[in-house]
Amino acid sequence: MSCQNRLVLILGDQLDLQGAALRDFDPKTDEVIMIESANEAKYVWSHKAKIALFLSAMRHFAADLERQKYPITYIREASLPIVDILKEQLLKRKITRLVCVEPGEWRLKLALEALAQDLHLELEMREDDHFYCSHQEFLAWASNKKELRLEYFYRLMRKTHGVLVGEDGNPEGGQWNFDRDNRKPYPKKGPGIIDPPASFEIDEITGEVLKYVTRVYKDHPGSLDAFNWPVTRSQALEALHHFVEYRLRYFGIFEDAMWTDTPFGWHSVLSSSLNLKLLNPREVVDAVIVAWKKYSLDLSAVEGFVRQILGWREFVRGMYYMDMPKMAQDNYYEHKRALPKWYWTGQTNMSCMKDAIGQTLQYGYAHHIQRLMVTGNFALLAEILPTEVCDWYLAIYVDAIEWVELPNTAGMALFANGGRFTSKPYIASGAYIKRMSNYCGSCKYKPEIRFGESACPITTLYWNFLIKHRPQFEASPRTKLMTANLNRISKDDQDAIEIHAQKILNHLDGL
Ligand SMILES: Cc1cc2nc3c(=O)[nH]c(=O)nc-3n(C[C@H](O)[C@H](O)[C@H](O)COP(=O)(O)OP(=O)(O)OC[C@H]3O[C@@H](n4cnc5c(N)ncnc54)[C@H](O)[C@@H]3O)c2cc1C
Ligand code: SF4
Repeated sequence: MSCQNRLVLILGDQLDLQGAALRDFDPKTDEVIMIESANEAKYVWSHKAKIALFLSAMRHFAADLERQKYPITYIREASLPIVDILKEQLLKRKITRLVCVEPGEWRLKLALEALAQDLHLELEMREDDHFYCSHQEFLAWASNKKELRLEYFYRLMRKTHGVLVGEDGNPEGGQWNFDRDNRKPYPKKGPGIIDPPASFEIDEITGEVLKYVTRVYKDHPGSLDAFNWPVTRSQALEALHHFVEYRLRYFGIFEDAMWTDTPFGWHSVLSSSLNLKLLNPREVVDAVIVAWKKYSLDLSAVEGFVRQILGWREFVRGMYYMDMPKMAQDNYYEHKRALPKWYWTGQTNMSCMKDAIGQTLQYGYAHHIQRLMVTGNFALLAEILPTEVCDWYLAIYVDAIEWVELPNTAGMALFANGGRFTSKPYIASGAYIKRMSNYCGSCKYKPEIRFGESACPITTLYWNFLIKHRPQFEASPRTKLMTANLNRISKDDQDAIEIHAQKILNHLDGL
């Protein structure tokens, strides 16, 4: 190759044939490069299923490119960081032009920019057109806002893209938000029969990857026994069609419900396919709207789902690129404690944590409320250092890429940025978990007891948090009610809560 030629880097979460990287690809002069790097699996201690999903999806994608006669260099099982390998390749071939799509992790973006400077490369880093909202549009929206709130951004997205909006510009069903109809617990007897997510056979490529990950990453957390993630575009499409056909109907109403041994509920389980770019968010939203009409589904289920994709997913991405690198360093409450060891094993007496972490280790998956109101809520109440919590989420979920993981964890679950895009810290006592799940029935602790041996640690830490941050919670109309409830607890009991909370905080590993 001469120095006029271009190398087109495709990262493991950019597996889209229609993506910006390949937009003007010329097989006569350009070549694709894809790199498997152990560094990506180790810089946070990644779940085996996450490593296997990325490797299998990358290898399938590369095989697709080869079938379509794209010239490609695919580097397998390398131990050096991606950028070091890329440097070797560029120097070896004397190539000075590099094309890529903006990475979904800040550290990689910086590393590629530094490499370009170091080697005097002509780097063309293209914006990821997978998303509905460009950086420029997001910044324009955010620039004149006093408060950055999902609701207003989401309405703009609905109008701009004509999703669930009538010809008069008004929302379908007369309201933008159907939250009040959604978010119910399962019936007392349990969730009943739920159609499981689509399942996929392990083909030769995935089989080989599973063996490799088992051998090389044997000390990494999690299991591969239940590996069932879509690894190709056609499998991802199958997962989407299965979801809209069988599972969308109860998505909204049970969106926040939790139940033991019900890892997926009625959720779509599509995040990994979306984040690897095997699915485009537009086709997901379109499929949901077609199903709504075809099966006369409740608008609340459909609107609730669209808000996650067109609202939250786009919103957190905008926030990530706008607020990095500060977002990764923020620590509003100055929390410093270490993450309890049982986050990596699930070995705790708290039933809710045991179930949420247990299924996470088994599948690399937990749904939103488990992440936000169980593991996230505990981490905030237990005053864990945000970077430790963020590293855990980034390592342990198959869909975790920093652009989406960090704003959700640091911003939403931990309030580490002081409420830059949320109106209050998401905290709850054991009473919330009792209402939304059956976890408490089998727990050593009692959700309504605030201190003492059988007190629910989440309840004790919740009240302790409110006592500690009383002025902040009292000052906001959104949280005033919480401190009003606190004021109903006698001074003696508040003292006992504080003493018991201190004991818990000093022995988090023993819970
Ligand atoms: C602490 C914490 C960490 C999280 N980390 C990640 C992560 O690393 N990767 C990730 O994709 N999501 C993350 N989320 C958001 C959300 O929990 C997951 O997207 C969802 O649980 C994935 O399961 P699902 O595909 O069944 O989603 P569903 O409940 O079926 O929702 C549909 C889709 O909407 C999107 N979505 C829903 N909620 C959000 C949200 N808050 N932010 C962005 N997209 C959303 C996802 O693409 C998801 O697939 C996190 C949430 C919290 C509270
Ligand atoms: S009692 Fe507390 S710790 Fe136990 S399951 Fe309920 S909320 Fe979780």
